[in-house]
Order: sequence, then structure tokens, then C-alpha cells
Amino acid sequence: MAKDPVCGMTVDEKAPLKSTHGGKNYVFCSASCKAKFDKNPTQYLSAKKPNEKGGPDA
Ligand SMILES: [Zn+2]
Repeated sequence: MAKDPVCGMTVDEKAPLKSTHGGKNYVFCSASCKAKFDKNPTQYLSAKKPNEKGGPDA
């Protein structure tokens, strides 16, 4: 199983909606999630790396 990086839903790796970014494959639960990711992939990938932000809003 893989995870939809946009909404966090668990998606089957064989799902028809997928994108490749940075050499990694991502699958999506719906076309709208894929469209969001395709528009701005880094937004969804960097959201899980608080270290890169360095903000004090803990
Ligand atoms: Zn989704």
C-alpha cells in the first residue's frame, strides 16, 4: 500500500492515478488529489519536514 501525499489516504500502489516526482512514485485516491500534487509537488512533500522550515511555531 502507498499513501496519497495530498490527503494522507492509503491508496493501493496499483491505483491508476500516479505521478513521479524526484524519482519517486506517488499514487492518489482521486484525480483532484493528483492535479493538486502535479501543480505543486513540493508543497505536499515538504509539509512533513518541519526541520526544513525552521519556524518557531511549534
Ligand atoms: Zn487523496
